[in-house]
Amino acid sequence: MPLPHLPRRTHEELLMETAYIALGSNLENPRHQLALGVAALARLPHTRLTAQSSLYRSAPVGYVSQPDFVNAIAAITTDLAPRALLDELLAIGREHGRVREVPNGPRTLDLDIALYGERVINEPGLTVPHPRMAQRAFVIVPLAEIAPDVPVPGQGRVRDLLRGVDAASVTRLKALAA
Ligand code: ADP
Ligand code: MG
Repeated sequence: MPLPHLPRRTHEELLMETAYIALGSNLENPRHQLALGVAALARLPHTRLTAQSSLYRSAPVGYVSQPDFVNAIAAITTDLAPRALLDELLAIGREHGRVREVPNGPRTLDLDIALYGERVINEPGLTVPHPRMAQRAFVIVPLAEIAPDVPVPGQGRVRDLLRGVDAASVTRLKALAA
């Protein structure tokens, strides 16, 4: 017997997972790079952009003799498996002429999978949740802006992780585009 009151969902929608992508740039007009990065996410196959945080400015960590970073988080729903999504993110980063000579060094555009649903992945070249996200204010603060109640596997909810980062080290930028 049919259930007419249930909303119809396509096969694609039933398979989709929500992923949170951390974007960062500190070269060649970072705000513009992030806008390009978000636009590229919106164009990914089998993927929908569902939310984006404000842009945040943060001082570099590790290699400090470089410009400040601009960071943001984008939420997507996607049919792409985690590895396929990573490959797409690396391709977007490559297209934007990322510089990789120095570990933690300057980059035109970097995109990381912060969270992929509630999956825990530990494979060569792919660790989810992103291993350093819980300590990084430039990930946790924008993520808390758009997804405070989302669970981080094994670490509580995003809003709980705010206590463990120096939120004052990131500054919300009012303007969303350069
Ligand atoms: P980070 O983003 O931590 O500063 P990099 O961008 O230089 O470091 O690291 C790039 C490599 O990190 C990629 O080649 C990718 O294989 C690996 N990696 C592992 N887990 C992830 C993840 N969750 N998101 C993005 N890249 C990841
Ligand atoms: Mg990266």
